[in-house]
Amino acid sequence: MSPSTIDQDTVAGSEAGKSHDWHRMSAAAAVEALHSSSAGLPTEEAARRLAVGGTSELIDNGSTHPLRIVWQQLSAVMVLILVGASLLSLALGKYLEAGAIAAIVVLFTLLGFFQEYRAERAIAALRQMSVPVVKARRAGRRVEVPAAQLVPGDIVLLDAGTVVPADLRLIEVAMLRIEEATLTGESEPVDKHTDPIDRPEIALGDRRCLAFSGTQVSAGRGVGLVVATGMDTELGRIATLLQNVQSEATPLQVRLDRVGKQLALVGVAVAALVVAIGALGGEPASDLALTAISVAVAVIPEGLPAVVTFTLAIGAQRMLRRNALIRKLPAVETLGSVTVICSDKTGTLTQNRMTVTALHVEGERTRVEPDVTVDLDRWTSSQRLLLAAITLCNDSEAERDAEGTWSFSGDPTETALIQLAVNAGVDPRSLRALVPRIGENPFDSGRKRMSTVHGPIDPTLATGSLFDAIDRSRRFALSKGAIDGLVAGADRIRTPRGVVPLSDDLRSSLLAANDEMAAAGLRVLGVAYRVFPESEAVEATLVAQAEASLTILGLVGIIDPPRGEVREAVAVCRSAGIRPVMITGDHPLTAMAIAEQLGIAGDELVLTGLDLDRLSDTEFDVATSEVSVFARVSPEHKLRIVGSLQRQHQVVAMTGDGVNDAPALKQADIGVAMGITGTDVTKEAADMVLRDDNFATIVAAVEEGRVIYDNLRRFVSFAVAGNLGKIIVMLGWPIPYLLVGNEFDAAVALLPLQLLWLNLMTDGLLGLSMGVEPAERRVMERSPHRPGASIWADGLGRQTLWIGAAIGVASLGVGFLYRETGQIEWQTMIFTTLAFLQVFQAIGTRSRTESLRTIGFTTNRLMLAVASLVIGLQLAALYTPLNDFLDLDPLAAIDLAVCLILGLALLAGIEAHKHLARTSRARAGRAG
Ligand code: ADP
Ligand code: MG
Repeated sequence: MSPSTIDQDTVAGSEAGKSHDWHRMSAAAAVEALHSSSAGLPTEEAARRLAVGGTSELIDNGSTHPLRIVWQQLSAVMVLILVGASLLSLALGKYLEAGAIAAIVVLFTLLGFFQEYRAERAIAALRQMSVPVVKARRAGRRVEVPAAQLVPGDIVLLDAGTVVPADLRLIEVAMLRIEEATLTGESEPVDKHTDPIDRPEIALGDRRCLAFSGTQVSAGRGVGLVVATGMDTELGRIATLLQNVQSEATPLQVRLDRVGKQLALVGVAVAALVVAIGALGGEPASDLALTAISVAVAVIPEGLPAVVTFTLAIGAQRMLRRNALIRKLPAVETLGSVTVICSDKTGTLTQNRMTVTALHVEGERTRVEPDVTVDLDRWTSSQRLLLAAITLCNDSEAERDAEGTWSFSGDPTETALIQLAVNAGVDPRSLRALVPRIGENPFDSGRKRMSTVHGPIDPTLATGSLFDAIDRSRRFALSKGAIDGLVAGADRIRTPRGVVPLSDDLRSSLLAANDEMAAAGLRVLGVAYRVFPESEAVEATLVAQAEASLTILGLVGIIDPPRGEVREAVAVCRSAGIRPVMITGDHPLTAMAIAEQLGIAGDELVLTGLDLDRLSDTEFDVATSEVSVFARVSPEHKLRIVGSLQRQHQVVAMTGDGVNDAPALKQADIGVAMGITGTDVTKEAADMVLRDDNFATIVAAVEEGRVIYDNLRRFVSFAVAGNLGKIIVMLGWPIPYLLVGNEFDAAVALLPLQLLWLNLMTDGLLGLSMGVEPAERRVMERSPHRPGASIWADGLGRQTLWIGAAIGVASLGVGFLYRETGQIEWQTMIFTTLAFLQVFQAIGTRSRTESLRTIGFTTNRLMLAVASLVIGLQLAALYTPLNDFLDLDPLAAIDLAVCLILGLALLAGIEAHKHLARTSRARAGRAG
């Protein structure tokens, strides 16, 4: 079917997907065929097509079905072992045991399910937020539309860094280059044009007048007509899914997995030992088999994997609340070990609210009052040309409402410029319509300038006096950008005496004026123009020649105040052992002025991209270890800076917004993209997206990362210490029995069910509440943890060992004290003591260093609730019919008091240990 026969009703349906022939039609014919126009679809028509065709998702959102989670839980090795144990009991005729174990399996599965489910939800929510929005044109206005809501006939705007959201027939291009590796495997960007290609069978890569969904704009600008969306696109055809929020294992998860496996081995060994001992004591083989399985299960921390994913996912959610959107789960953990934060200046450290405050034209400085309008005829002819230049050589959009108030959208630097022109009475819309662009060389953060080509201007048109300074019958180019680059291509300058050659004197006084403005913290843009000789007519040559033989028009100084909260965030970084580094394309003096205001640098060195290019690798490393401000850098320098810092074993967070920043973001340990001003390409490359573009948000995320890391270690230590205690009890109990002979009537300290119950109470319930422990008080006053460091580092291993030993010895001791009372009584005592000890262990280890009084008894409400629940359940196990089920006896008040006192004693021990550690650290601090 030929596209021209598509009628309005099929347009929105899947038939429009047959985009084979769009490249053969002219742009105008394609627009016509889809009943659209260059102003875009009317809003109601877009809504109608969306209603008919539906949203166009390419991706299932990658979440896991709840039933699948249940299955994952059920198929875990631990659960399988338990199910085996239950079946075994059934076979042996022990129905009560079988039922009880089955009940515990269900409980564990439920618990695991809810943790995984919440984690999944959290990740799915993050995924939802990463869906890109598209710049489109509807009813003549620029709008932002979620990619899934595009319909055939929509007009989409492309610029460097955009990921093409649908298959497009290009209707306007300016040096547009697109990288199509996702589709064709070809990583060299392709030059695009708008001319039809009249060949039916032609490879995708050669359809230069089309842009394909999922490919990336690497340079230039363009406008395209949506011809296919979602699964109808070429990308949908090959069903490649877009890269999205990923869940890889974090380094900590890998290490914890190892800990889990080691514990499992220990469990098996202990089980074998217990069986051997029992066999010596003449226990029946069936009992032994059950005991062996239960011991193994008791020793293995089955809560571990679920708690880790849960904690990371909940952590990502907490970060989101502070405006940091995590795209890759491992980032949650890596953030905690960041040692250097390399940040852009504009928009991240500053407010990106730009206002022109100074002009320098014809050697004279003019202050500009932001809100004051000055009539056009009060400006000199050079100044008027400058106003025209900054309006025409500018991609921001201007719109006027019914009351005549202008509003602007686009790059803040450019909106600041156009605001200035509007204040002088220039109407940007009509000026742009009267003096259209016939060519352009778009802004690029490497070149740091842009140019446009216009003219000649029809003398009958009312363009006012803006072009008095030049010959309107010729074509001309306008450029704006970093003055260092413009000066290199300039040979003349406008002065009060007219246009004169750019002498060394004039050049140095121009640069001195630039430096003076920059030193005051202003962002300075130079403006220049070129009038082409009459002979020059070919468009391509005009663009190529636009930045040569320039005449300097003047300088514009723009203020962009630092963000208030950043100063404090920088101070937090310092106390947290993190070095903030500013990397900017702006002038070194502007960079330094802002850096000083924010406390990022004193009056140290600032290095520029040119300086960096002269350094050897070794010198480069010295530079990156000492210098905190890098100016006039290109994206390639960012990559080199990250590499150099990583060679020095720094963990680097790096921000970026432009298309060329993606490699540096990928290389960095934490790539940070800007949510507001960032390009799609950087967002896809990033580990984290700042929803408010704010440096302070990075610091907040680092803090959360540290808290999460602390909480995970806390849980592991808690689980391992508890299991160590149980091993000591299980192994220690039969020893006197072996030594003395038949003095005891049982070789097994705790029954399988009792062990499982204890695990459920501790690893299952108490563990859950550890993931939400709030930040330790000094979390941002200590240095980052080394990324490769053992989870047992700085004394945690020792603490875990002694607490585990204390738990084991205390429970065992109680057992021996009560051993004359009969099996069910002493077992109940061991069982209850273990439970109470772990409850108080959980409370005591809430902080590694601070006393419970300092952190506040009630600051982790969830833990208080869970601890009360565990104690309640424990009492229920003793005093309700549950006790039959668990083979327990109600304890007398005095015996219960013994268990409670032992628990409190452990808490006191932990507090005393923390106190000793604090005082010895303080002493060491004084001595050092
Ligand atoms: P930053 O790292 O601060 O974001 P940019 O790369 O945006 O720096 O800008 C670097 C330099 O490029 C600026 O100092 C300015 O001279 C020039 N520049 C910035 N934006 C534009 C623009 N829209 N058009 C022309 N030149 C620009
Ligand atoms: Mg910028």
